[in-house]
Amino acid sequence: MDVGIMKQVFEKIKEYNRIIIFRHIRPDGDAVGSTKGLKEILTLTYPEKEIYLINCDYSDYLSFMGGEDEDIDDSLYKDALGIVVDTANEDRVSNQKFKLCKEIIKFDHHIPRENFGDINLVEEERSSAAEMVAAFYNEFKDELKINSTAATYIYTGMVTDSGRFRYSSVSGDTMRLAGMLLDVGINVDVMYSNLYLKEFSELKFSAHVYNKMSLTENGVAYIIVDKAMQEEFNLTHEKAGSVVSLMESIKGSLIWLAFIENDDSIRVRLRSRFVTVNDIGEKYRGGGHACASGATVYNMEEVNSLIADADAKLKEYKENNEGWL
Ligand code: AMP
Repeated sequence: MDVGIMKQVFEKIKEYNRIIIFRHIRPDGDAVGSTKGLKEILTLTYPEKEIYLINCDYSDYLSFMGGEDEDIDDSLYKDALGIVVDTANEDRVSNQKFKLCKEIIKFDHHIPRENFGDINLVEEERSSAAEMVAAFYNEFKDELKINSTAATYIYTGMVTDSGRFRYSSVSGDTMRLAGMLLDVGINVDVMYSNLYLKEFSELKFSAHVYNKMSLTENGVAYIIVDKAMQEEFNLTHEKAGSVVSLMESIKGSLIWLAFIENDDSIRVRLRSRFVTVNDIGEKYRGGGHACASGATVYNMEEVNSLIADADAKLKEYKENNEGWL
């Protein structure tokens, strides 16, 4: 945690009358929770300022957290401060108009790839960007305001990006900050119901995925969600992508991959435990976290090559390490 940079960010927030918050495309719980939480804190603290959250794509699954703001005139971006949350590189910002802002703050917890901000607050050790928002609030709590709505957004981001506080990125600080948010007041029954409840048809689709998934010689689990499968089960892109989490608890399968066929490319979602996969993501036009990365491939040859790379990596890892499960 770099308190010096946090102070610089806080000074900029105080300086500007218009602040626009951005996040990455295809938002997950952290992208939505962290940005909505930050917006709520700033709106509560500075009712006289204009605070917007403007993006170009949305998540059905996360719609329980409510919507974002309508776009504003381009001219209004020009004297605004832009805060880009949870996004490692410029290309992945959902609303590319962030570049129109007078100054930009990058506020992120991914492995740094591009320092595109005028100020870059990057805390790789944090389990979520939402945890960064919680830490930011906590650092300046004498001046910032929070309520249970903001606490719920931030807590939801922390819960979703840490695998419900299971991942090794979770620290004592994560739990202390989560505790601070619980003290503000969060209805966890409602929040977890929103996250966990599924339609009957979704469970049927899960059964299909379990039938179809494959395992390589050294234990990489994978599934290819092609167009035919998407049509058969009437899947949105988001639902198709969610299959990756179905493979997360297979003994000895330390890497699992989902390939989602798009019109002109194939999205790859890479997940792992113990062993890192961001290098594989980077080799195939992607990146992300050590144990959760994304990539893009263009044909079955590349699909097979990525699977082979993951298999070789896992083989080497298993041969040279002990204690994995
Ligand atoms: P996903 O599987 O899309 O949820 O991605 C897992 C993690 O990797 C997220 O934190 C993403 O922000 C990041 N990520 C996904 N795709 C890319 C990409 N093409 N380049 C950089 N980071 C990515």
